[in-house]
Amino acid sequence: MMDFNLTGLSNPSESTEEISVKVLILGSGPAGLAAALYAARADLEPVVLTGMELGGQVSLTHIIENYPGFPDGVGGNELVELFQKQAEKFGARIEFDTAVEIELSKRPFRVRTYNVTYLAETLIITTGATPRHLDVPGEKALTGRGVSYCAMCDGWFFKDKDIIVVGGGDSAVEEGLFLTRYAKSVTLVHRRDHLRASQVLQTQARANPKMKFIWNSVVTEIIGKDSVEAIRLKDIISEKESVQPINGVFIFIGHSPNTQLFEGQLELDDKGYIKIDLQMKTNIPGVFAAGEAADPHYRQVITSAGMGAAAAIQAGHFLDEVSNER
Ligand code: NAP
Repeated sequence: MMDFNLTGLSNPSESTEEISVKVLILGSGPAGLAAALYAARADLEPVVLTGMELGGQVSLTHIIENYPGFPDGVGGNELVELFQKQAEKFGARIEFDTAVEIELSKRPFRVRTYNVTYLAETLIITTGATPRHLDVPGEKALTGRGVSYCAMCDGWFFKDKDIIVVGGGDSAVEEGLFLTRYAKSVTLVHRRDHLRASQVLQTQARANPKMKFIWNSVVTEIIGKDSVEAIRLKDIISEKESVQPINGVFIFIGHSPNTQLFEGQLELDDKGYIKIDLQMKTNIPGVFAAGEAADPHYRQVITSAGMGAAAAIQAGHFLDEVSNER
């Protein structure tokens, strides 16, 4: 997961090196890498700061079956590699670095990383989103000890084990199905009596003999000493609580945008998504945003990539306009 919420980290490099760039892209998911491709092909010599992980959430996705051009699906890592290769072929520079301080009050925008300071004529923010937590007792202490937010990263550890998946959207069902490769059983716990996930996924889940469902229920506690041993469930209709032995808990209940770095500098909505118009423009001229940091609705690889391309095109127009004004 890309993590750009690093305002608490207090020791960015003391290096005084300043690098001027026409287009600086924060984030290397589909939006960032598509923006890099388009900006590179427009000869804008973009620099991409990858954040903590090249590719962001996509690189943690086992298989993507709804990105056009891949009728048999494509692995998340493979797709990221292809995006990267294509952007670099046209001159994009990809830096394994993270923005830690940003100054957007005047152009060029100052973006300080762990290594250098960039002076950017335009900025494209594609910092993505991070999985939401349940915020129940035991969750934090047992994260990495049976509590996980990434099926592809941790599924292997649950060979022949019983696990639960929390959530009722596409992520929960898709990741739950992936986990049936390893687990003895995957029980999906959902707070409603029906899923929000797409029909295709629902049909696959219902047909899978390892998948079970617990409806109208929420997890109120994750129990275990050194690793997960059980969960406490509450039936929200009867209000009855029960404890169920379990080996693992995978949580897929949506995401929060990685936009803390921009608080107070850019207009965000009440959930923290960057406000943009149809041209990917934020409230600051020259600053654009694309992908999940600015999209609470679609959150698809294809829509993020499309937004990234649009942001790069608009960054090009912006640079043309300011150079014509000079
Ligand atoms: P989502 O669609 O927002 O679903 C989140 C699920 O978690 C909902 O079922 C929600 O319940 C539940 N939930 C939220 N907070 C909860 C809490 N505190 N306790 C228990 N349950 C809670 O999120 P998502 O599944 O990550 O999907 C996000 C977007 O990405 C969607 O647009 C989805 O279509 C897309 N996506 C697509 C694919 C694909 O096309 N293959 C794969 C993954 C994601 P309620 O239903 O009651 O709200």
